[in-house]
Amino acid sequence: MGKLQERIQHIEREIQAACERSGRNREDITVIAVTKQVSTERTKEVIDLGILHVGENRPEGLLAKRQDIQSSAVCWHYIGNVQSRKVKEVIHDIHCLHSLDRISLAKEIQKRASAPIDCFVQVNVSGEQSKSGVSPDELRAFLQQLATFDKIRVIGLMTMAPFTEDQDVLKSVFSSLRQLRDEMAAANMEHAPCTQLSMGMSNDFAIAIEEGATHVRIGTALVGTESEGEQ
Ligand SMILES: *Cc1c(COP(=O)(O)O)cnc(C)c1O
Repeated sequence: MGKLQERIQHIEREIQAACERSGRNREDITVIAVTKQVSTERTKEVIDLGILHVGENRPEGLLAKRQDIQSSAVCWHYIGNVQSRKVKEVIHDIHCLHSLDRISLAKEIQKRASAPIDCFVQVNVSGEQSKSGVSPDELRAFLQQLATFDKIRVIGLMTMAPFTEDQDVLKSVFSSLRQLRDEMAAANMEHAPCTQLSMGMSNDFAIAIEEGATHVRIGTALVGTESEGEQ
């Protein structure tokens, strides 16, 4: 068995275990393979091994892979900061955007998209200056403002946890996002069902799942890095 396949199986076991600990169903969790640090070749291998959700955080990376990988079975996620002027380059090549964090970006999507696009609103739960995202206090007003944008469908919330090994901090960030998600979903906004939670990366996806993640974005732990030399 190749290294890649072993890593995928290992992660799958961790996900199963996290589901068991928290009484969740495995089917309710989507694994997004974050391929920003690996080649198109490696990305194809990941897809061939059955992971059909792929995430990129730069227009160049997304478009390069999109060009070579035509399979209609693959769902493409844009997970990073996107400059408004780059929206037109990527909007027709993605199924889901995880980083909606400002009205100017929403306006650009509204202008460029030809069909409604599923978006996660990025929330800066930890309040770190370095992180983008809407502040929890402003979230409700932000979602309300999006009601007039018929090209945007807010399917959920996304956050990046702080870079720490402290499990309690991670748990508290993820659980805060879940509470916000519950509040927003309860508001029953037609354009913002807000039922999903994009949270958890290589180092913290198990905790994120225990706290309710529906989408985990896993890079290095799943696809490795190009330099290590695969297989
Ligand atoms: C790179 C990245 C990931 C994956 O990070 P890993 O630690 O490699 O799993 C997830 N989400 C976002 C937004 C990223 O930029």
